[in-house]
Amino acid sequence: MDPVLQPKLTDRLDWLVDWLYPPRCRACGGRIYGRDAEYLCSGCWPQIRLVSHPLCNVCGRPFFDASGDDHHCAACLARQPYFVRARAWGCYPKDDRVEHPLRQVVQKFKYGRKVSLGKPLGRLMAQGCQEFLKGCHVDLIVPVPLHPKRLRWRGFNQSLLLARQVSRLYEVPVDPFVLCRERETVPQTQLAEDERRKNVRGAFATYPGKLLKGRSVLLVDDVYTSGATANECSRVLVRGGAREVYVLTLARTV
Ligand SMILES: [Zn+2]
Ligand SMILES: [Zn+2]
Repeated sequence: MDPVLQPKLTDRLDWLVDWLYPPRCRACGGRIYGRDAEYLCSGCWPQIRLVSHPLCNVCGRPFFDASGDDHHCAACLARQPYFVRARAWGCYPKDDRVEHPLRQVVQKFKYGRKVSLGKPLGRLMAQGCQEFLKGCHVDLIVPVPLHPKRLRWRGFNQSLLLARQVSRLYEVPVDPFVLCRERETVPQTQLAEDERRKNVRGAFATYPGKLLKGRSVLLVDDVYTSGATANECSRVLVRGGAREVYVLTLARTV
């Protein structure tokens, strides 16, 4: 049976928990009515723009003109990334003055240290990107690592929590000890696009003794903004022997 459709015991337990404690919207905290609007309320759902075709067939940037086919965007034509393809589940505006439920929920997850959001957000991403994931044929999932200092502060790596849901649904192993963050970096959100590339250059390394040779890797992160982090991690993975790298994120900015 399709692993995505196979009912799991934990799904039934989730239903029981929902019955005992009625679900709240993960973005605005409002009450959710009915099962069809899982995770987000009827006010927040319509604001979520899911990434859909036509899009850049490398970085996955959606094009606003919905009439054309997928093609390379200008950035990917100018500079071919180290990854084969990237895809995100949903998108929100780059301008952080614009309030958006997807940004809100990502910020609650990361900066509000809401570890409980890992599962629902990971599921949304994994189930919403089925078409992309089934076309990748990856044999290993690698989350983007945090620097140990940041990991101690947050208490969890949000990318690993998201990656675990992909691993569970597609039965591909996830290994958080492939990549490490050797150098602490300034948060990318504070930097301009060209500064982001410099900021992450040389920040990642592979753990010694990791057998990556010939393996097809899915790199998982929470948000794709300039693609600098995804590209630098992919460069390190390819240099470490990976045959190819695909990138999956919960969100991307547009
Ligand atoms: Zn809401
Ligand atoms: Zn592109």
